[in-house]
Amino acid sequence: MRKGRLWEMIQKMPKGSLLHCHMDGTVSATWLIDAALRYDSVIHIRAESPLLAPEDLYRVQVSLKPMPAFKSYSPSSNLFSHDYDTDEWMPLKEARKLFPFKSPYASRLEGFEKGTDIPSAEGRSRSEAGLVHWLHSLMTMTPVVGSKPMESSPEAWARFESTFAIIGGVISYEPILASYLKEMVLVHARDNIQYLETRLNFVEETYLSTDAVTPLPHLRWVEIFRTSVDEANAELRAEGKGECQCKIIYATVRFVTPERLRWYTEDCLQLARAHPDLIIGFDLVGHEDPLLRLREYVPELLRFKQRQVEEGLDIPLILHAGETLGDGNGTDENLYDALLLDSKRLGHAYSLPKHPELMKMCRERNVCVESCPISNEILRYVGNMASHPLPILVNHGVPVALSNDDPCQFGNFGLSHDFWQVCNASDATGLAALKTFALTSLEHSRLTPSERARHMERFNSDWENWLTWIVKTYGEERNGPTKQGN
Ligand SMILES: [Zn+2]
Repeated sequence: MRKGRLWEMIQKMPKGSLLHCHMDGTVSATWLIDAALRYDSVIHIRAESPLLAPEDLYRVQVSLKPMPAFKSYSPSSNLFSHDYDTDEWMPLKEARKLFPFKSPYASRLEGFEKGTDIPSAEGRSRSEAGLVHWLHSLMTMTPVVGSKPMESSPEAWARFESTFAIIGGVISYEPILASYLKEMVLVHARDNIQYLETRLNFVEETYLSTDAVTPLPHLRWVEIFRTSVDEANAELRAEGKGECQCKIIYATVRFVTPERLRWYTEDCLQLARAHPDLIIGFDLVGHEDPLLRLREYVPELLRFKQRQVEEGLDIPLILHAGETLGDGNGTDENLYDALLLDSKRLGHAYSLPKHPELMKMCRERNVCVESCPISNEILRYVGNMASHPLPILVNHGVPVALSNDDPCQFGNFGLSHDFWQVCNASDATGLAALKTFALTSLEHSRLTPSERARHMERFNSDWENWLTWIVKTYGEERNGPTKQGN
């Protein structure tokens, strides 16, 4: 895929905005592991029982966490020994020396390529290479021998959810969080995305300051976000590259009780009072099928809207809805509630094509669907791109913006992979359709009118430059650029 000319063209193509991604899934696992190893006396690892054989690597639950580097290392904190005391945390500094197993990527699982985002083993000891590959497999959906099966959507979700716990143990450390957010901007700018809105889960109150002890208040998260984004863009400007502006959709998870939701909506209002230009939406995220229905939260969400009027703030709901294979069940019905709650856009809306009347409402009310085809494929909602319901939405005139959801886990960094997949799976989807996805993403973003005008101007000029580049590069070839040109 990455060797073809379609890839080269799509990678260089201006893609507008990324409207659906989760902050803790935006940067590569390889980057995260390097960051953890830079702080290898602060980032610690623990297991529920000792890891004594390769089978234990995916059978035993492990966690990562930043902790002060005060303690001297004792054998009872060696995860890989019979003497391991499961209350103990082992610094990565020791784990990288003592990891006793070979890399889980050493034997290739039949039918799967390793992908390109794998930490290089070069320059590492055998134990460190084994450790970093194992951590990589815990942070991603890369299939490995011994990992739990992912044939159904619930099985895929089980693995998917476990990755966030591991990643959370690394980015919850203030210095890593700051450089992580910078990297998030750079990764997307490199893929010619000029603006992104990321869901940030404020559910965990376990992020820690530089001393690895003091909790980091939510207000500080947003300040760090602002500083990191500004620094990344200053760097891009200095290099003469296109910038990537970023804003936050405040998110919490659908396991919080409806009563507890009030705390989060008030927290969101507090952050929005301090940073009205950054906190631009509210969402409830998580595995939609087993978690609480939107209707359970309706009274609190209506109260939240009222509180915004009182406070003179505008934080629309931008809800995940219909990420399900269900037909007429409670999760499928979340689509009705999301539209009745006036959700500005719909995240996934995978089951929307089953509801002609709701598609009509999306068209008439101009509600955009944030479609994440690769995510839907990897989380086993659909077997391959050609079976994905995206063309049904597009052909019914529903506005659609393509999104990557969680590229760390899925390996679909930027938007090039999703654009490429969609283009390759459909003979009706060519440049005009891809340009429409990009323009829709800018139109349905939460940019202010003046920001949007500026972004549209940049997009149009970048698009013209890109077309000129294509003509110059491929125009003289007899058959011109075609999708079959791979
Ligand atoms: Zn999502």
